[in-house]
Amino acid sequence: MEDCVFCKIASGKIPAAKVYEDSNVMAFLDIMPANKGHCLIVPKKHYETLLEVPDEDLSLLIKTAKKVAKALSLSVGNGAFNLVMNNGKEAGQLVSHAHLHVIPRFKSDRLRLKWSHQKYMENEMKEFQEKIKKFL
Ligand code: 5GP
Ligand code: ZN
Repeated sequence: MEDCVFCKIASGKIPAAKVYEDSNVMAFLDIMPANKGHCLIVPKKHYETLLEVPDEDLSLLIKTAKKVAKALSLSVGNGAFNLVMNNGKEAGQLVSHAHLHVIPRFKSDRLRLKWSHQKYMENEMKEFQEKIKKFL
């Protein structure tokens, strides 16, 4: 993927502040962090969203996220972190190369990842339950 910024980082064409790397996965500091220490966990191969990532790469990705979250807690953090993945434009994905965010959290940080809540109408919850179950 010639225009993909994470592919360019994977191939060494552009630099990144890497904290971890193996043959399948890399982790580096987000250039515009939500909190300082915010890391991105990225498969070296180009996949667009979670749905395209093969299970083997996915398990390596989540294991790396856990390792990095632990290292973040021991270094800049205090054990609290958000693990976030944006999938698709409407979900806020800006870089179309699948990645996980590990964001350290602090007591008085201003970061807001909470959403407002909706309510189901009568029977609607059952309808959604049935719709989803059909595809599983
Ligand atoms: P998304 O919104 O796609 O889930 O998140 C993409 C993230 O990639 C953003 O938080 C953005 O700051 C980060 N990012 C974009 N370009 C670069 C870059 O060239 N280097 C690094 N280290 N991070 C980047
Ligand atoms: Zn890519």
